[in-house]
Amino acid sequence: MTAEQLPRRVIEAVRAASADSAAPQPLHDPVFAGNEIAYLSECVETGWVSSAGKFVERFERDLADFTGSARAVAVANGTAALHACLRLVGVEPNDEVLVPSLTFVGTVNPIAYAGAIPHFVDSEPATLGVDPDKLAEHLEATLTRGPGGPRNRASGRRVPALVVMHTYGHPVRLDAVAAVCERFDLVLVEDAAESLGSYYRGTHTGNAGRVAALSFNGNKTVTTGGGGAILTNDPSLGALAKHLTTTAKLPHRWAFDHDLVGYNYRMPNINAALGCAQLEQLPGFLEAKRALAERYMTTFRDVPGVRVFAEPPHCRSNYWLNVLLLEPEAEPLRDAVLDATNAAGITTRPAWTLMHRLPMFASAPRMDLGAAESIERRLINLPSGVGTARGRGGNPSPGR
Ligand SMILES: *Cc1c(COP(=O)(O)O)cnc(C)c1O
Repeated sequence: MTAEQLPRRVIEAVRAASADSAAPQPLHDPVFAGNEIAYLSECVETGWVSSAGKFVERFERDLADFTGSARAVAVANGTAALHACLRLVGVEPNDEVLVPSLTFVGTVNPIAYAGAIPHFVDSEPATLGVDPDKLAEHLEATLTRGPGGPRNRASGRRVPALVVMHTYGHPVRLDAVAAVCERFDLVLVEDAAESLGSYYRGTHTGNAGRVAALSFNGNKTVTTGGGGAILTNDPSLGALAKHLTTTAKLPHRWAFDHDLVGYNYRMPNINAALGCAQLEQLPGFLEAKRALAERYMTTFRDVPGVRVFAEPPHCRSNYWLNVLLLEPEAEPLRDAVLDATNAAGITTRPAWTLMHRLPMFASAPRMDLGAAESIERRLINLPSGVGTARGRGGNPSPGR
């Protein structure tokens, strides 16, 4: 494969998998093919557009039903959801929080918002998420038990929690991850921003940790314009999540009393209205996205030097963004493929720049990140939206 051949083969394989092969293929645009306009009109006509209204309650109930979580609390975005999650599990200033380096910056910024410091951990090629075996070895060498919980022997800081992220919708090995948390006395937090509709051993992601965060940004599997949610199976933590994200106001007929420094992180009713209409379509979206992933497996089968990433064992993934992995011999051609596909109207993207290379996190503690670095060099995201899966008819609206 040369720098001329591989990009051409990739373009052909993407077009062959797309429902409308002549159309431009965005990375992941939203599809509004249901009750969106009806529910939005209802908000405007009734005046319930803001921080109260029936769609927020319905969206939270629908989310809890879909994910099987005891409680879902809708918030302004996924980053805010993660910030609230960290506060809810007791992360404090100057703590260290374990988190993968291979993730979107929205996983790590909330650690800094909480005044804590990220401690970067490696990912594994089998799931693209945290490698629990390598993590256990690292923690064995790094942590010591103190009166307030585990501490980093070198920095002296408390290490209360691990955040895992289900990369591009593929679940991490949650059984093994939970066992590591148990063994080292860490609280597990799931960044499930990318994994709505993804299951590990039959259970929806976001139910293994004490709390989890979802995102409904414009490019996610379903969108509320901007939005997020906190999931938990602990009812008292769920009540606290609602309280903390709604300015910690004490219920009263007319008085303004607050018992904590709360956040104004609530989701407005108009965004929840959009979300209710989107959740009605989620099963169909997932079917379309999984069918597209299967077509990619077929159309890329005979393209040498690349492989479409398939859901890990025991998982059912939403295939939020399809992943093309370059074999070592094709690794030098990554940028040529990115250039040629984007020039041809096929939106492809590399992995995120690893978090430990960003200037604000460059001095954070970390373990060996060899696997994450290798994945980063070899990974390309392919167009994965429902529009690519089904054809774009009736949905001309741009995503962001
Ligand atoms: C999208 C995303 C977030 C943040 O969600 P926003 O709603 O954009 O704030 C966090 N983590 C990951 C992994 C994401 O993909």
